[in-house]
Amino acid sequence: MGYSTGLVCRVCGKRYEESPLYVCEDCFGPLEVTYDYEFLGRKFSPETISRGPKSMWRYWPLLPLQGEPKVGLEVGFTPLFHAKRLGDALGLKRLFIKNDAVNHPTLSFKDRVVAVSVSKAVEFGFDTVACASTGNLANSLAAQATAAGLRSLIFIPADIEEAKIVGTSVYGTEVVAVRGNYDQVNRLCSEVASQYQWAFVNINLRPYYSEGSKTFAFEIAEQLGWQCPDHIVIPVAGCSLLTKIWKGLTELEKLGWIPKNKARLYAAQPSGCSPVATAVKNGWDTIKPVKPNTIAKSLAIGNPADGLFGLRAIRQSGGYAEDVSDREIIEGILLLAKTEGVFTETAGGVVVAATRKLVRQGRIGKDDLTVLAITGNGLKTQDALVGATRRPSTIDPTLEDFVALEEQKERRQRENVSLG
Ligand SMILES: *Cc1c(COP(=O)(O)O)cnc(C)c1O
Repeated sequence: MGYSTGLVCRVCGKRYEESPLYVCEDCFGPLEVTYDYEFLGRKFSPETISRGPKSMWRYWPLLPLQGEPKVGLEVGFTPLFHAKRLGDALGLKRLFIKNDAVNHPTLSFKDRVVAVSVSKAVEFGFDTVACASTGNLANSLAAQATAAGLRSLIFIPADIEEAKIVGTSVYGTEVVAVRGNYDQVNRLCSEVASQYQWAFVNINLRPYYSEGSKTFAFEIAEQLGWQCPDHIVIPVAGCSLLTKIWKGLTELEKLGWIPKNKARLYAAQPSGCSPVATAVKNGWDTIKPVKPNTIAKSLAIGNPADGLFGLRAIRQSGGYAEDVSDREIIEGILLLAKTEGVFTETAGGVVVAATRKLVRQGRIGKDDLTVLAITGNGLKTQDALVGATRRPSTIDPTLEDFVALEEQKERRQRENVSLG
């Protein structure tokens, strides 16, 4: 028995019974899940939650399932750690990394939203799940649908990273590569969804899907000792993660499990696809869609579905947004790897590089408790680093060759010193 009480329109407030519905019949506004917070707050507390499983399911009372989860039992409760060396490099004393690059089973935060939406699809009785994806969602849905014994169909832009294509096809799922960008793939999927009785997890199950993102915020708060950080820097594509981090922290405040939701939220986007950052910087109340052109393919959504709600959350929180060039993205990936030993994908590079800008602008202070949302793994976007890392020195298997290599290195260092 769950604690969700149905769906509500985020625009006009009309209420609906729980069903695979995602837009309001009256005003076409997006729907979201509601809960009986009062009942829930009487039955649960930080203490009872802390005794739960070491996965995102410790927060099940705040997730929209009526029964047990059907897949992804191991998803979530990823590390949050003090990134001292990266903090030194950026000038921040209390910098933390929330590391979903090591999430299970497919190394990105999308494992959270898929675990919820596939479980919900099973509750609703669907036998086929589908999605429109920029890559990480594809990986996670393919893996978890397979594990649940469901048929899956996955639609991707044809030009995403090879590792993300192989990492989807390997599960035996049906992958449809569409000649077009994500926004075109998504539009196609909306049309397909209206003709076939399939659960498109990020379209007709979107209200349930997006709830999974709240667990990212819940974990941050719990891992900080049920405290709210001062700042969270978040990579933004469709703006669902950012919007739901805000909802999650607001819920924790409402339940009294954190003293106050004081977090300022920052959207981090690649300059080649920054409709949300552009709106924030210009003070616009609307999002102007763009045509993506960036190496951060996981963030290449030109017309973000939750953009307006994201804008609202950013403003309400007192946060801001920044965008960074492809070159800065690569620098961000390298900086995180070389300081903390964490290899993130392009989206993580966007977050690190945007944080550097926000610190320089004085928006994030050196003593503030700051969390970076690292949402994906670098092994999937190695193409982006071609030419950016040093090639290994190649030698024959003789001691002589190795000694020569070391001597060459010492000579170079001496020359650099005398030149310098
Ligand atoms: C999907 C994705 C995001 C952004 O998610 P939205 O909820 O669409 O804004 C961030 N990082 C990674 C690695 C992703 O795959």
